[in-house]
Amino acid sequence: MERPLTRNIHPDRPALNLKEYEMTGGYTALRKVCSGMTPAALQKLVQDSNLKGRGGAGFNTGIKWSLIPMGEEAASPKYLICNADEMEPGTFKDRLLLEGNPHQLIEGMILAAYAIQANISYVFLRWAYHKAADLIRKSIQEAYDAGYLGKDILGSGFHLDMHLHTGVGRYMCGEETALLNALEGKRATPRAKPPFPQISGLFGKPTIVNNVETLCCVPHIVNNGIEWFKGLSYSEDGGTKLYGVSGKVKRPGVWELPMGVTMRELIEEHAGGMKDGVELKGVLPGGASTDFLTTQHLDIKMDYKSVAAAGSRLGTGTMIVMDSGTCPVGFVHNLQHFFAQESCGWCTPCREGLPWVEKLLLSLEKGEGKKEDIELLDMHTQLLGPGSTFCALAPGAMEPLQSALKYFRDDFEKHIEHKKCPYD
Ligand code: NAD
Repeated sequence: MERPLTRNIHPDRPALNLKEYEMTGGYTALRKVCSGMTPAALQKLVQDSNLKGRGGAGFNTGIKWSLIPMGEEAASPKYLICNADEMEPGTFKDRLLLEGNPHQLIEGMILAAYAIQANISYVFLRWAYHKAADLIRKSIQEAYDAGYLGKDILGSGFHLDMHLHTGVGRYMCGEETALLNALEGKRATPRAKPPFPQISGLFGKPTIVNNVETLCCVPHIVNNGIEWFKGLSYSEDGGTKLYGVSGKVKRPGVWELPMGVTMRELIEEHAGGMKDGVELKGVLPGGASTDFLTTQHLDIKMDYKSVAAAGSRLGTGTMIVMDSGTCPVGFVHNLQHFFAQESCGWCTPCREGLPWVEKLLLSLEKGEGKKEDIELLDMHTQLLGPGSTFCALAPGAMEPLQSALKYFRDDFEKHIEHKKCPYD
Protein backbone atom coordinates (compact mmCIF):
# COMPACT_ATOMS: atom_id res chain seq x y z
CA MET A 1 0.00 0.00 0.00
CA GLU A 2 1.52 3.34 -1.06
CA ARG A 3 1.67 6.23 1.39
CA PRO A 4 3.20 9.06 -0.68
CA LEU A 5 2.49 11.87 1.78
CA THR A 6 3.76 10.18 4.93
CA ARG A 7 6.23 7.52 3.81
CA ASN A 8 9.18 9.66 4.90
CA ILE A 9 7.59 10.89 8.10
CA HIS A 10 8.62 9.17 11.31
CA PRO A 11 7.17 10.97 14.36
CA ASP A 12 10.06 9.73 16.52
CA ARG A 13 12.64 11.30 14.16
CA PRO A 14 13.21 14.99 13.32
CA ALA A 15 11.54 16.52 10.26
CA LEU A 16 13.26 16.14 6.91
CA ASN A 17 15.60 19.02 6.12
CA LEU A 18 16.17 20.22 2.56
CA LYS A 19 18.96 17.74 1.73
CA GLU A 20 17.00 14.80 3.10
CA TYR A 21 13.87 15.89 1.23
CA GLU A 22 15.86 16.15 -2.02
CA MET A 23 17.32 12.69 -1.44
CA THR A 24 13.78 11.25 -1.28
CA GLY A 25 12.89 12.85 -4.63
CA GLY A 26 11.93 16.24 -3.26
CA TYR A 27 11.68 19.19 -5.70
CA THR A 28 11.80 16.90 -8.77
CA ALA A 29 8.17 17.86 -9.47
CA LEU A 30 9.14 21.53 -9.38
CA ARG A 31 12.06 20.85 -11.74
CA LYS A 32 9.71 19.03 -14.11
CA VAL A 33 7.20 21.89 -14.13
CA CYS A 34 9.90 24.55 -14.48
CA SER A 35 11.38 22.80 -17.48
CA GLY A 36 8.45 23.63 -19.69
CA MET A 37 5.03 22.71 -18.30
CA THR A 38 2.53 25.52 -18.75
CA PRO A 39 0.37 26.76 -15.87
CA ALA A 40 -2.71 25.64 -17.81
CA ALA A 41 -1.29 22.12 -18.22
CA LEU A 42 -0.57 21.91 -14.49
CA GLN A 43 -4.09 23.08 -13.66
CA LYS A 44 -5.54 20.47 -16.01
CA LEU A 45 -3.36 17.71 -14.56
CA VAL A 46 -4.60 18.43 -11.03
CA GLN A 47 -8.20 18.79 -12.19
CA ASP A 48 -8.10 15.45 -14.03
CA SER A 49 -6.52 13.72 -11.02
CA ASN A 50 -9.80 14.41 -9.17
CA LEU A 51 -7.97 15.77 -6.13
CA LYS A 52 -10.61 17.13 -3.79
CA GLY A 53 -9.89 19.68 -1.05
CA ARG A 54 -8.85 17.99 2.18
CA GLY A 55 -9.80 20.90 4.48
CA GLY A 56 -13.27 19.43 4.86
CA ALA A 57 -15.48 20.60 2.02
CA GLY A 58 -14.05 18.41 -0.76
CA PHE A 59 -14.22 20.99 -3.58
CA ASN A 60 -12.27 19.89 -6.69
CA THR A 61 -8.84 21.55 -6.40
CA GLY A 62 -8.14 21.87 -10.15
CA ILE A 63 -11.56 23.43 -10.74
CA LYS A 64 -10.88 25.91 -7.94
CA TRP A 65 -7.57 26.87 -9.56
CA SER A 66 -9.23 27.17 -12.98
CA LEU A 67 -11.50 29.95 -11.64
CA ILE A 68 -8.50 32.26 -11.17
CA PRO A 69 -8.32 34.93 -13.88
CA MET A 70 -5.25 34.33 -16.05
CA GLY A 71 -3.55 36.35 -18.76
CA GLU A 72 -2.14 39.84 -18.98
CA GLU A 73 -5.38 41.59 -18.09
CA ALA A 74 -5.87 39.65 -14.86
CA ALA A 75 -5.65 41.66 -11.65
CA SER A 76 -2.35 41.46 -9.86
CA PRO A 77 -0.76 40.47 -7.62
CA LYS A 78 -2.33 37.07 -7.18
CA TYR A 79 -1.99 35.17 -3.92
CA LEU A 80 -1.66 31.55 -2.91
CA ILE A 81 -2.50 30.78 0.71
CA CYS A 82 -2.03 27.55 2.57
CA ASN A 83 -4.69 27.16 5.22
CA ALA A 84 -2.79 25.53 8.07
CA ASP A 85 -5.10 26.87 10.76
CA GLU A 86 -6.08 23.34 11.77
CA MET A 87 -8.55 23.81 14.61
CA GLU A 88 -11.44 21.46 13.93
CA PRO A 89 -11.92 19.50 17.19
CA GLY A 90 -10.50 16.00 16.90
CA THR A 91 -8.42 16.94 13.84
CA PHE A 92 -4.65 16.61 13.93
CA LYS A 93 -3.75 15.38 10.45
CA ASP A 94 -2.10 18.50 8.98
CA ARG A 95 0.10 18.74 12.04
CA LEU A 96 1.75 15.44 11.08
CA LEU A 97 2.59 16.80 7.61
CA LEU A 98 3.75 20.18 8.91
CA GLU A 99 6.00 18.73 11.60
CA GLY A 100 7.23 15.76 9.60
CA ASN A 101 8.00 17.06 6.11
CA PRO A 102 7.63 20.86 5.72
CA HIS A 103 9.40 20.93 2.32
CA GLN A 104 6.70 18.68 0.84
CA LEU A 105 4.19 21.41 1.66
CA ILE A 106 6.48 24.18 0.39
CA GLU A 107 6.99 22.34 -2.91
CA GLY A 108 3.22 21.84 -3.21
CA MET A 109 2.70 25.54 -2.58
CA ILE A 110 5.25 26.59 -5.20
CA LEU A 111 3.56 24.32 -7.74
CA ALA A 112 0.09 25.64 -6.87
CA ALA A 113 1.36 29.23 -7.10
CA TYR A 114 2.90 28.44 -10.50
CA ALA A 115 -0.39 26.95 -11.73
CA ILE A 116 -2.26 30.17 -10.96
CA GLN A 117 0.75 32.46 -11.55
CA ALA A 118 0.70 33.90 -8.04
CA ASN A 119 3.84 35.69 -6.92
CA ILE A 120 3.08 35.97 -3.21
CA SER A 121 2.20 33.13 -0.88
CA TYR A 122 1.43 32.70 2.81
CA VAL A 123 1.28 29.81 5.21
CA PHE A 124 -1.49 30.75 7.65
CA LEU A 125 -0.59 28.58 10.62
CA ARG A 126 -2.50 27.69 13.77
CA TRP A 127 -1.07 29.72 16.62
CA ALA A 128 -0.56 26.68 18.88
CA TYR A 129 1.60 24.81 16.33
CA HIS A 130 4.87 26.27 17.62
CA LYS A 131 7.07 23.40 16.45
CA ALA A 132 5.63 23.62 12.95
CA ALA A 133 6.20 27.40 12.96
CA ASP A 134 9.93 26.95 13.67
CA LEU A 135 10.26 24.26 11.02
CA ILE A 136 8.40 26.18 8.33
CA ARG A 137 10.37 29.35 8.98
CA LYS A 138 13.63 27.41 8.66
CA SER A 139 12.45 25.46 5.59
CA ILE A 140 11.28 28.59 3.75
CA GLN A 141 14.76 30.04 4.23
CA GLU A 142 16.37 26.80 2.97
CA ALA A 143 14.13 26.92 -0.11
CA TYR A 144 15.17 30.55 -0.81
CA ASP A 145 18.84 29.65 -0.41
CA ALA A 146 18.47 26.75 -2.86
CA GLY A 147 16.72 28.88 -5.49
CA TYR A 148 13.32 27.20 -5.11
CA LEU A 149 11.82 30.47 -3.90
CA GLY A 150 12.54 34.05 -4.89
CA LYS A 151 13.32 35.38 -8.38
CA ASP A 152 13.51 33.28 -11.56
CA ILE A 153 12.93 29.92 -9.85
CA LEU A 154 15.12 27.24 -11.54
CA GLY A 155 15.51 29.54 -14.55
CA SER A 156 11.78 29.46 -15.34
CA GLY A 157 11.26 33.21 -15.13
CA PHE A 158 8.66 32.57 -12.42
CA HIS A 159 9.15 34.25 -9.07
CA LEU A 160 7.48 33.59 -5.76
CA ASP A 161 7.82 34.95 -2.25
CA MET A 162 6.59 32.96 0.74
CA HIS A 163 5.76 34.15 4.25
CA LEU A 164 4.69 32.48 7.45
CA HIS A 165 1.79 34.04 9.34
CA THR A 166 0.71 32.60 12.67
CA GLY A 167 -2.92 33.00 13.69
CA VAL A 168 -4.29 34.06 17.06
CA GLY A 169 -5.84 30.77 18.14
CA ARG A 170 -9.40 31.38 16.96
CA TYR A 171 -11.39 28.69 15.13
CA MET A 172 -12.97 31.34 12.95
CA CYS A 173 -9.64 32.19 11.29
CA GLY A 174 -9.76 28.83 9.49
CA GLU A 175 -12.83 29.93 7.51
CA GLU A 176 -11.19 31.09 4.30
CA THR A 177 -12.69 34.58 4.08
CA ALA A 178 -12.22 35.28 7.80
CA LEU A 179 -8.63 34.13 7.26
CA LEU A 180 -8.26 36.73 4.51
CA ASN A 181 -9.52 39.47 6.83
CA ALA A 182 -7.16 38.30 9.58
CA LEU A 183 -4.24 38.33 7.15
CA GLU A 184 -5.17 41.89 6.16
CA GLY A 185 -4.95 42.84 9.83
CA LYS A 186 -8.70 43.18 10.27
CA ARG A 187 -11.14 41.50 12.63
CA ALA A 188 -11.53 37.85 11.55
CA THR A 189 -15.15 37.88 10.45
CA PRO A 190 -16.27 36.03 7.33
CA ARG A 191 -17.08 37.78 4.06
CA ALA A 192 -20.09 37.13 1.87
CA LYS A 193 -19.47 34.58 -0.92
CA PRO A 194 -19.72 35.23 -3.86
CA PRO A 195 -17.44 36.83 -4.79
CA PHE A 196 -15.26 33.81 -4.06
CA PRO A 197 -11.61 34.48 -3.18
CA GLN A 198 -10.57 33.31 -6.63
CA ILE A 199 -11.97 36.60 -7.96
CA SER A 200 -11.71 38.90 -4.94
CA GLY A 201 -9.53 37.53 -2.16
CA LEU A 202 -6.63 38.96 -0.19
CA PHE A 203 -6.65 42.77 -0.53
CA GLY A 204 -9.37 42.29 -3.15
CA LYS A 205 -7.05 40.38 -5.51
CA PRO A 206 -7.41 36.86 -6.99
CA THR A 207 -6.51 34.35 -4.29
CA ILE A 208 -6.50 30.60 -3.82
CA VAL A 209 -6.79 29.13 -0.35
CA ASN A 210 -5.88 25.44 -0.13
CA ASN A 211 -5.49 23.09 2.83
CA VAL A 212 -2.10 21.60 3.85
CA GLU A 213 -2.92 17.99 2.91
CA THR A 214 -4.35 19.11 -0.45
CA LEU A 215 -1.15 20.99 -1.34
CA CYS A 216 1.05 18.09 -0.20
CA CYS A 217 -0.63 15.86 -2.83
CA VAL A 218 0.42 18.11 -5.72
CA PRO A 219 4.14 17.17 -6.09
CA HIS A 220 3.17 13.48 -6.15
CA ILE A 221 0.56 14.02 -8.85
CA VAL A 222 3.14 15.86 -10.97
CA ASN A 223 5.76 13.14 -10.45
CA ASN A 224 3.55 10.11 -10.95
CA GLY A 225 0.59 11.18 -13.05
CA ILE A 226 -3.17 11.06 -12.97
CA GLU A 227 -3.74 7.32 -13.32
CA TRP A 228 -1.32 6.56 -10.50
CA PHE A 229 -3.06 9.08 -8.22
CA LYS A 230 -6.52 7.76 -9.02
CA GLY A 231 -5.26 4.21 -8.49
CA LEU A 232 -4.30 4.99 -4.90
CA SER A 233 -7.96 5.31 -4.02
CA TYR A 234 -10.70 2.73 -3.40
CA SER A 235 -13.27 5.22 -4.64
CA GLU A 236 -13.84 7.73 -7.43
CA ASP A 237 -12.09 10.46 -5.39
CA GLY A 238 -8.39 10.38 -6.21
CA GLY A 239 -5.52 9.70 -3.85
CA THR A 240 -4.89 8.65 -0.31
CA LYS A 241 -6.40 10.33 2.75
CA LEU A 242 -5.02 11.07 6.17
CA TYR A 243 -7.59 9.52 8.50
CA GLY A 244 -7.60 9.85 12.26
CA VAL A 245 -9.42 8.31 15.18
CA SER A 246 -9.76 9.71 18.71
CA GLY A 247 -11.94 8.73 21.67
CA LYS A 248 -11.91 5.57 23.79
CA VAL A 249 -10.16 3.35 21.25
CA LYS A 250 -7.07 1.30 22.02
CA ARG A 251 -4.72 3.14 19.63
CA PRO A 252 -5.87 6.65 18.74
CA GLY A 253 -3.85 8.10 15.88
CA VAL A 254 -3.64 9.27 12.29
CA TRP A 255 -2.82 7.11 9.26
CA GLU A 256 -2.48 7.66 5.51
CA LEU A 257 -4.68 5.10 3.75
CA PRO A 258 -6.42 4.69 0.40
CA MET A 259 -9.35 7.10 0.09
CA GLY A 260 -12.46 5.03 0.74
CA VAL A 261 -11.34 2.56 3.44
CA THR A 262 -14.27 1.57 5.60
CA MET A 263 -15.00 3.06 8.98
CA ARG A 264 -14.81 -0.45 10.42
CA GLU A 265 -11.26 -0.95 9.13
CA LEU A 266 -10.22 2.37 10.62
CA ILE A 267 -11.68 1.76 14.04
CA GLU A 268 -11.13 -1.96 14.42
CA GLU A 269 -7.79 -2.46 12.65
CA HIS A 270 -5.87 0.80 12.74
CA ALA A 271 -7.23 2.16 16.03
CA GLY A 272 -7.22 -1.32 17.59
CA GLY A 273 -10.95 -1.37 18.43
CA MET A 274 -12.71 0.00 21.49
CA LYS A 275 -11.06 -0.04 24.90
CA ASP A 276 -12.07 -2.91 27.16
CA GLY A 277 -15.40 -2.39 28.90
CA VAL A 278 -16.92 0.07 26.43
CA GLU A 279 -18.73 -0.27 23.11
CA LEU A 280 -19.03 2.06 20.18
CA LYS A 281 -22.14 4.22 20.33
CA GLY A 282 -21.59 6.92 17.73
CA VAL A 283 -18.97 8.40 15.42
CA LEU A 284 -18.43 11.92 14.13
CA PRO A 285 -16.66 10.98 10.88
CA GLY A 286 -14.81 14.18 10.09
CA GLY A 287 -14.37 16.43 13.10
CA ALA A 288 -16.94 17.98 15.42
CA SER A 289 -18.94 19.74 12.72
CA THR A 290 -20.26 16.57 11.09
CA ASP A 291 -23.34 14.43 11.76
CA PHE A 292 -23.13 11.34 13.95
CA LEU A 293 -23.07 7.96 12.31
CA THR A 294 -23.64 4.79 14.33
CA THR A 295 -22.79 1.07 14.35
CA GLN A 296 -25.12 0.48 11.37
CA HIS A 297 -22.73 2.60 9.26
CA LEU A 298 -19.49 0.81 10.10
CA ASP A 299 -19.14 -0.68 6.63
CA ILE A 300 -19.50 2.56 4.68
CA LYS A 301 -16.55 3.80 2.70
CA MET A 302 -14.89 6.89 4.09
CA ASP A 303 -15.10 8.97 0.92
CA TYR A 304 -17.03 12.16 0.18
CA LYS A 305 -19.97 10.55 -1.61
CA SER A 306 -20.45 7.52 0.63
CA VAL A 307 -20.34 9.45 3.90
CA ALA A 308 -22.77 12.01 2.45
CA ALA A 309 -25.12 9.21 1.34
CA ALA A 310 -25.10 7.91 4.93
CA GLY A 311 -26.26 11.34 6.14
CA SER A 312 -23.03 12.95 7.26
CA ARG A 313 -19.87 14.43 5.72
CA LEU A 314 -16.33 13.16 5.33
CA GLY A 315 -15.14 16.55 6.65
CA THR A 316 -11.52 16.32 7.69
CA GLY A 317 -11.67 12.49 7.81
CA THR A 318 -10.50 12.50 11.41
CA MET A 319 -13.23 10.83 13.41
CA ILE A 320 -14.26 11.26 17.02
CA VAL A 321 -15.61 8.06 18.52
CA MET A 322 -18.26 8.26 21.24
CA ASP A 323 -18.44 5.20 23.49
CA SER A 324 -21.32 3.55 25.36
CA GLY A 325 -20.23 5.02 28.69
CA THR A 326 -20.39 8.63 27.52
CA CYS A 327 -23.57 10.66 27.80
CA PRO A 328 -24.55 12.00 24.34
CA VAL A 329 -26.16 15.08 25.92
CA GLY A 330 -22.97 15.93 27.82
CA PHE A 331 -20.91 15.14 24.72
CA VAL A 332 -22.93 17.46 22.50
CA HIS A 333 -23.03 20.12 25.23
CA ASN A 334 -19.24 20.09 25.29
CA LEU A 335 -19.13 20.62 21.52
CA GLN A 336 -21.70 23.42 21.63
CA HIS A 337 -19.68 25.13 24.37
CA PHE A 338 -16.74 25.16 21.94
CA PHE A 339 -18.78 26.47 19.00
CA ALA A 340 -20.54 29.15 21.08
CA GLN A 341 -17.18 30.34 22.38
CA GLU A 342 -15.67 30.39 18.88
CA SER A 343 -18.55 32.22 17.17
CA CYS A 344 -17.12 35.47 15.81
CA GLY A 345 -20.33 37.30 16.76
CA TRP A 346 -20.80 38.77 13.31
CA CYS A 347 -24.26 37.41 12.52
CA THR A 348 -27.12 37.32 15.01
CA PRO A 349 -28.34 33.71 14.68
CA CYS A 350 -24.88 32.33 15.42
CA ARG A 351 -23.93 34.86 18.12
CA GLU A 352 -27.23 34.55 20.03
CA GLY A 353 -28.33 31.06 19.04
CA LEU A 354 -25.28 29.01 19.95
CA PRO A 355 -25.07 30.20 23.59
CA TRP A 356 -28.81 29.54 23.89
CA VAL A 357 -28.37 25.98 22.60
CA GLU A 358 -25.46 25.50 24.99
CA LYS A 359 -27.59 26.71 27.90
CA LEU A 360 -30.47 24.37 27.03
CA LEU A 361 -28.13 21.40 26.80
CA LEU A 362 -26.49 22.23 30.12
CA SER A 363 -29.84 22.41 31.91
CA LEU A 364 -30.83 19.05 30.36
CA GLU A 365 -27.54 17.51 31.42
CA LYS A 366 -28.07 18.75 34.99
CA GLY A 367 -31.54 17.20 35.09
CA GLU A 368 -33.26 20.58 35.06
CA GLY A 369 -34.66 20.32 31.54
CA LYS A 370 -38.29 20.43 30.44
CA LYS A 371 -40.05 18.43 27.72
CA GLU A 372 -40.33 21.50 25.49
CA ASP A 373 -36.54 21.87 25.53
CA ILE A 374 -36.14 19.01 23.06
CA GLU A 375 -38.51 20.74 20.65
CA LEU A 376 -36.60 23.98 21.16
CA LEU A 377 -33.36 22.17 20.31
CA ASP A 378 -35.00 20.69 17.20
CA MET A 379 -36.10 24.17 16.21
CA HIS A 380 -32.62 25.60 16.66
CA THR A 381 -31.11 23.00 14.34
CA GLN A 382 -33.32 24.63 11.67
CA LEU A 383 -32.81 28.24 12.76
CA LEU A 384 -29.05 27.86 12.77
CA GLY A 385 -28.92 25.49 9.80
CA PRO A 386 -27.57 26.05 6.28
CA GLY A 387 -28.61 29.34 4.71
CA SER A 388 -29.51 31.05 8.00
CA THR A 389 -26.07 32.31 8.93
CA PHE A 390 -23.17 34.13 7.31
CA CYS A 391 -20.76 31.18 7.27
CA ALA A 392 -20.63 27.44 7.96
CA LEU A 393 -19.78 27.66 11.70
CA ALA A 394 -23.31 27.47 13.17
CA PRO A 395 -24.68 25.03 10.55
CA GLY A 396 -21.61 22.87 11.27
CA ALA A 397 -22.33 23.08 15.01
CA MET A 398 -25.89 21.91 14.39
CA GLU A 399 -24.76 18.73 12.62
CA PRO A 400 -23.76 16.74 15.74
CA LEU A 401 -26.80 18.11 17.61
CA GLN A 402 -29.41 17.24 14.98
CA SER A 403 -28.00 13.73 14.52
CA ALA A 404 -27.75 13.18 18.30
CA LEU A 405 -31.43 14.12 18.54
CA LYS A 406 -32.11 11.60 15.78
CA TYR A 407 -30.06 8.64 17.02
CA PHE A 408 -29.91 9.19 20.79
CA ARG A 409 -33.23 10.92 21.45
CA ASP A 410 -34.15 8.54 24.24
CA ASP A 411 -31.01 9.67 26.10
CA PHE A 412 -32.30 13.27 25.94
CA GLU A 413 -35.73 12.15 27.16
CA LYS A 414 -34.31 10.12 30.06
CA HIS A 415 -32.59 13.24 31.43
CA ILE A 416 -36.01 14.90 31.70
CA GLU A 417 -37.83 11.82 32.98
CA HIS A 418 -35.29 10.96 35.72
CA LYS A 419 -34.28 14.60 36.40
CA LYS A 420 -30.62 13.57 36.25
CA CYS A 421 -28.03 12.31 33.83
CA PRO A 422 -28.53 8.54 33.43
CA TYR A 423 -24.78 8.14 32.86
CA ASP A 424 -23.78 9.55 36.28
P1 NAD B 1 -17.37 25.68 1.03
O1 NAD B 1 -18.02 24.46 0.50
O2 NAD B 1 -18.14 26.96 1.05
O3 NAD B 1 -16.04 25.98 0.20
C1 NAD B 1 -15.01 25.08 0.02
C2 NAD B 1 -14.02 25.65 -0.95
O4 NAD B 1 -14.53 25.61 -2.27
C3 NAD B 1 -13.68 27.13 -0.70
O5 NAD B 1 -12.33 27.34 -0.99
C4 NAD B 1 -14.57 27.89 -1.66
O6 NAD B 1 -13.99 29.10 -2.06
C5 NAD B 1 -14.66 26.91 -2.81
N1 NAD B 1 -15.97 27.00 -3.48
C6 NAD B 1 -17.13 26.44 -3.02
N2 NAD B 1 -18.13 26.72 -3.89
C7 NAD B 1 -17.59 27.46 -4.88
C8 NAD B 1 -18.11 28.05 -6.06
N3 NAD B 1 -19.40 27.95 -6.39
N4 NAD B 1 -17.28 28.74 -6.86
C9 NAD B 1 -15.98 28.85 -6.54
N5 NAD B 1 -15.41 28.31 -5.44
C10 NAD B 1 -16.20 27.63 -4.62
O7 NAD B 1 -16.85 25.31 2.49
P2 NAD B 1 -16.11 26.20 3.55
O8 NAD B 1 -17.10 27.01 4.31
O9 NAD B 1 -14.95 26.89 2.93
O10 NAD B 1 -15.53 25.07 4.50
C11 NAD B 1 -16.38 24.28 5.30
C12 NAD B 1 -15.63 23.02 5.64
O11 NAD B 1 -14.51 23.33 6.43
C13 NAD B 1 -16.45 22.04 6.40
O12 NAD B 1 -16.60 20.94 5.55
C14 NAD B 1 -15.65 21.69 7.62
O13 NAD B 1 -15.56 20.29 7.77
C15 NAD B 1 -14.29 22.25 7.32
N6 NAD B 1 -13.55 22.74 8.48
C16 NAD B 1 -12.26 22.34 8.61
C17 NAD B 1 -11.50 22.77 9.68
C18 NAD B 1 -10.08 22.31 9.83
O14 NAD B 1 -9.47 22.56 10.88
N7 NAD B 1 -9.52 21.65 8.83
C19 NAD B 1 -12.06 23.64 10.61
C20 NAD B 1 -13.37 24.04 10.44
C21 NAD B 1 -14.13 23.59 9.37
